[in-house]
Amino acid sequence: MTSTTRYILPDETLCVQADWLWDGVSDTLLPRPRLQIRQGRIAAISSYPHTNNHAQPAPDPGSTSPSRPAGSTGEKWPDGAPLLHLPGCTLLPPLLDAHVHLGLDGRDFAASRAAWQSEAEYMPRVAKHAAAWLAAGVVALRDGGDAAATALHYRLKQKPAWPLLHTTGMALRHPQRYGSFLGPDWPVKKLGGLLEELAARGADWIKILVSGVVSFTHYGQVGALHFSQEELTALVARARSLGRRVMAHANSPAGVRQALQAGAATVEHGYFLDEDCLKEMAEKQTAWLPTIVPVANQVRTAQAAGWPAESRQVIEKTYRRQQEMLCKAWELGVPLGVGSDAGASGVEHGRGLLQEMLYYREAGLPAVQVLRLATRGNAAILGIAGALPGVIIPGAPAALLAVQGNPLADLRCLERVKQVMLPASPV
Ligand SMILES: [Zn+2]
Repeated sequence: MTSTTRYILPDETLCVQADWLWDGVSDTLLPRPRLQIRQGRIAAISSYPHTNNHAQPAPDPGSTSPSRPAGSTGEKWPDGAPLLHLPGCTLLPPLLDAHVHLGLDGRDFAASRAAWQSEAEYMPRVAKHAAAWLAAGVVALRDGGDAAATALHYRLKQKPAWPLLHTTGMALRHPQRYGSFLGPDWPVKKLGGLLEELAARGADWIKILVSGVVSFTHYGQVGALHFSQEELTALVARARSLGRRVMAHANSPAGVRQALQAGAATVEHGYFLDEDCLKEMAEKQTAWLPTIVPVANQVRTAQAAGWPAESRQVIEKTYRRQQEMLCKAWELGVPLGVGSDAGASGVEHGRGLLQEMLYYREAGLPAVQVLRLATRGNAAILGIAGALPGVIIPGAPAALLAVQGNPLADLRCLERVKQVMLPASPV
């Protein structure tokens, strides 16, 4: 599929050796790791002997050295297993993005929507976006849907093994409110039927728009709520009765509170939520995905040129507040996920997750915690910790990411993906 991806067959035995390992648990790196892989799982982890040409205690984050020819340590590999040697690399669990829109490209909204008219048009686009994630070491995605349910159709038709894809199909919304590109204009009283249809067609999650979207011109405005509390609670209960959890797009304290009261599993965006919302989320262990990048990128990238000065101020203030609330949420013990909202204007597939992680880092979260959220944290939210536990320990599935440099010193080295290793099909 891509040159960086290597699929491990169930009967394959392999030794993988790199300069460093972050196992997803510890705060530090294990030097000179050697992993044995058997039957699609990690069979053993050891540290190979120190050699003179490899005396550095930690790799320089910006460096692509040290390097050494494959097998130069002269070790014998168990069972004559082939050796995959990744000099200068750190091995770590692969990443997950818990909020994307595979049917949009983040650049040209009109062209993306035009492609939804025909499967022949949108299918290759969705496949290309999924491939961009895989090449970037992001091996599982939760898709927030679109009005044409492109990601759901892609999954049903192509049955891709990786990236592992969870999708909502399309969103439930009030016909006169925000989000006509995310879900159809069905009357509220028929949304229970739409929900059942989506679940029957294979939607893994139910997406509900609870509020509007953050304004880039009027600070604090997020649009009207879509439903009464009774309507929303009934929809979430209906989803639960079908074994589906709800991904709630909710901004403002009122919107977030409504979503929490209704029993949504995750709150998406949550702009302008207050500390009481965070306390309730911590108490209920409802996950929050603050999606900083679709807002921050408007002023932190070339996109800034398109906004007048007053809007740039509103946008700056909006995402800075979100970064502050992220830190509060972290302190209060709110379960946090990482979702890029890729496909939204200014957020590209394959790139948005690292950008989101860097905004978490900038907000003050330590790099190791940000990595935990984008691996184990997201896997727990998606409920796929069996296939992707986000840890590298004996017995875990052989899902590995090799990047050049030390991601604990600088998350940016996640841009330098050398290899993605995955079981040929999720185990
Ligand atoms: Zn979204």
